[in-house]
Amino acid sequence: MPPHPRLLQADYAHDPLALLANRILEDADGQLPVLGQVLVLVPDLDAGPRLRRLLLERATEAGHAALLGPRVTRLSDWLAGFAIPDRRILDQAERELMLVEALRRHHTLFGKANLWALAESLLKLFDDMTRRRVGVSMDLQTFTDRLVQAYGSDDAFPSALGMEARLVHTLWHAWHEQLAAGGCLDRATADLLRLGASQASTDTGPVYLAGFPVLEVPEVEWLSGLAACRPVTVVVHGRGHAPAPRHPDATPSALLQNLGGNPDQALRCNSAYTRFLDTVFAGYSDGARDLAERAEAFLTTQAVSPANGRLVVYQADNAEQEARSVELQIRRWLLEGKQSLAVVTENRRLARRVRALLERAGIQIQDRGGWALSTTSAAALVERWLECMEEDFPYLALLDLLKSPFLVPEQRRESHLATVYRLERDVILHENVGRGLAAYQRRLEYRRHRLPGAAGAALQPVAELLEHLRQAAEPLQRFIGTENPPAEVLEALLHSLERLGASAALAEDAAGARVLQTLASLQRAAEEQETVLHWTELRSWMGTSLENTHFRPPVSGSPVVLTDLAQSVLGHYEALVLAGAERDHLPGNGGQSPFFNDAVRRDLGLPEGDAQCRERFYHFRRLLEAAPRVLVTCRREQDGEPVATSPWVESLQAFHQLAYGEGLDDHDLAWLVRSPEAEVVNRSAPLPTTESAPRPRAEAALLPRTLSASGYQQLMDCPYQFFAARLLHLAPPDAIREALEKSDYGERVHRCLEAFHKGVEGMPGPFGSPVTRANRDRAIAELEKIAEAAFADDLEDNFLHRGWLERWRRVIPAYIDWQLRRDAQWRVHSAEVSARREAADGPIIQGRLDRIDAAEGRIAVTDYKTGRVPSDADVLAGEAVQLPCYALLAEAETGMATEQVEYLELGKEKVKSRAVLEGDRLHTLKSAIDVRLSELFERLQSGAEVPAWGDEKTCGYCPMDGLCRRQAWHSEPQQETDSRHH
Ligand code: SF4
Repeated sequence: MPPHPRLLQADYAHDPLALLANRILEDADGQLPVLGQVLVLVPDLDAGPRLRRLLLERATEAGHAALLGPRVTRLSDWLAGFAIPDRRILDQAERELMLVEALRRHHTLFGKANLWALAESLLKLFDDMTRRRVGVSMDLQTFTDRLVQAYGSDDAFPSALGMEARLVHTLWHAWHEQLAAGGCLDRATADLLRLGASQASTDTGPVYLAGFPVLEVPEVEWLSGLAACRPVTVVVHGRGHAPAPRHPDATPSALLQNLGGNPDQALRCNSAYTRFLDTVFAGYSDGARDLAERAEAFLTTQAVSPANGRLVVYQADNAEQEARSVELQIRRWLLEGKQSLAVVTENRRLARRVRALLERAGIQIQDRGGWALSTTSAAALVERWLECMEEDFPYLALLDLLKSPFLVPEQRRESHLATVYRLERDVILHENVGRGLAAYQRRLEYRRHRLPGAAGAALQPVAELLEHLRQAAEPLQRFIGTENPPAEVLEALLHSLERLGASAALAEDAAGARVLQTLASLQRAAEEQETVLHWTELRSWMGTSLENTHFRPPVSGSPVVLTDLAQSVLGHYEALVLAGAERDHLPGNGGQSPFFNDAVRRDLGLPEGDAQCRERFYHFRRLLEAAPRVLVTCRREQDGEPVATSPWVESLQAFHQLAYGEGLDDHDLAWLVRSPEAEVVNRSAPLPTTESAPRPRAEAALLPRTLSASGYQQLMDCPYQFFAARLLHLAPPDAIREALEKSDYGERVHRCLEAFHKGVEGMPGPFGSPVTRANRDRAIAELEKIAEAAFADDLEDNFLHRGWLERWRRVIPAYIDWQLRRDAQWRVHSAEVSARREAADGPIIQGRLDRIDAAEGRIAVTDYKTGRVPSDADVLAGEAVQLPCYALLAEAETGMATEQVEYLELGKEKVKSRAVLEGDRLHTLKSAIDVRLSELFERLQSGAEVPAWGDEKTCGYCPMDGLCRRQAWHSEPQQETDSRHH
């Protein structure tokens, strides 16, 4: 009979590491403090420091102040030290690529299935088969016969089974032929070879294994071989007898059975709490009594709930509330002085949110689970860059990319972000460009061309940034959407990241370095394969690799550990949160192989489909006793969809409800989560003060000498806006604004009308005679010809302008009809006139008048409006000052009296006179606004306040709202009606 390892078994309530520490010291009695020959093999190094602490505590009690050894290491690290035949071991990336190549050669076997997904499932199957030494006979018929038998099918050769058998058989052999041809080994084979090689090791004394809930047959055989030459001890955590395969004890029970049966030492626990949990989960036994019966029976033995003070459940309304509850409970426990806390969850999204909340509260944590590399900001940079390549720089991906912290060094970051801001505002928003690097560059040039002098030159950094992107993209561009050797494409990607300026920052960042390593390992893998991949296949491969590579941020010495179920296997804590207890995670539905049903898998010796579920149930049960205080959290809803609670949590709740008339809900925590007082605040930060509307004082030296009608209007609408824009120069000067406005629809319409009535150099027109019924059609045709010329612009992407041209064309007939009526009384005197009016005691008013008509020594002023028109009421009340101002300017320009001013609304297919001022009303208004402007300037010159008092309409369009902090005011501003209305 082969030698068996010695087995130590402890119920869930016991700490397996404490049991192990005691046993190591007992075994070494007489040799202490020297434990140098002792080897402890664990699945994860996180257990090492606690085991050493426990050993030292026990050794100190025995009179040894220090210990030499033992060696605590991961099983995989220890095995890696043993030599195996000199063959290259494939990494995951190379395995995937090699298998995809094999799949392509046998594409008739699987139709249109996704190659990468199929390769992933097949590799997992092949690993399972290799680790369990499941052979596939060379003869397909023999293999198929075995499957037919295992499926228990009466049909001699069912077609689906035939396909499955053929697929696995063919690819298994193709895969192994390819490995042999390349002189390679896959990792599972290498692990088996190393297990064998390690048995001959002579430099190891006693070996202890802990934290392995599952050991396969080859590993059990390896332990037997190891035990032949030295003492080998295995710690099994959990019960040795399971009443049914779906029971949480099934996992440790199977382990004990595989290892040879009865434990040499067993620590039992018969506490009321353990019995409570056992009774709840007895429902997962065959032939168990129903829940109500069990609850009733339990109550007769235990009048007070043993869960009181030990186990609570919190059901959150949503994900954020759940994360907050975890953060809050951890803070409460820390305030109680607890030193060893754990948050255990399979939900990495929740884990990241909890981590962020705890860090916001100033609590650093040991994040043992880490996260998929694909979710790091370093991987996001690469993803955004690839999106930019594939979709020609869509603006959202582009801005994300440019705002990435990896793009420029810290010292240049501020000026870089200012350049990105200009790109966003000036090109993407104002020029309305959504994608296309060439389009961004073209529109930027167009904008610079329109802007005067320094303002245009200020856009030079944006031009340089776009050119930098173009040059960085060059190495990669030709590969997009085509088939190429993947090594070449990956080299080009790394080269383009270098040119982009991101490589150095990525290399200095822990996650960034992992991303670069992953890309480099894909490149190495690709160099070994003579294959070509289409761009989309390569993207899938890169995406899967970044998704499957885990990144663990540096671990601090915090008392709080964030971990997943498997990594918590040797943990024992003062308090614990089991978070994310929803059906999707506990048990979850992952890990199911698409190949073979359970009967076949059992026959072949492969893990059954629900193996992952069973192992999770074991961890769940174990964790309920891994701390004297346990909180289980879950949520009711996610993104508006209801979320099912884990059936294991429902069993606990229902049992407790039936036995003790209440669930396990934590009402205190529920109350705290809803209390704003429990939110983390930065108490050192000053409290926000309640604010009033600002009322700075004007300085005479800052007052402009000239003022446009729109400046006057701004002063009326909100003096603070006027102050910020025109005294502090925080808005573009009129010259720049006007230059830019030339690009819009309205300005082009103005140019058409100027060309029609007075002529513009280089354009058709002028029409040259009054419009009559007889020449109406000719006038329309002439204006249409002018419109064609005005809207054609070779600097533009013409899509937008074609739309504008169509819009204007529909207005032209109505305009000509209006002009026909107008010509009955007036003749066009001048168009697009720049006028000034000097005043003895006020600023110079200036403006550009769209059109002045004249008749019999009098004039009429028309202002064309293609957009919003001030209301008649505002104009009549003197609130809208533009028309009276224009009347004053026109008089100054022509020396004639203004008889009428009006807006001409050039709306959709209609043309209409609006806010017509004439006669006495015009005369009164223009005098009043003239006097008021003088008085206002006089007051400003003597340092009057310039309060912020914009109304809803004004504030809605105001670029200064961030400056006046409108949102933070605690009361509405008081408008000083006496200064507004003279
Ligand atoms: S947001 Fe309103 S109140 Fe503030 S400056 Fe602008 S217009 Fe004035």
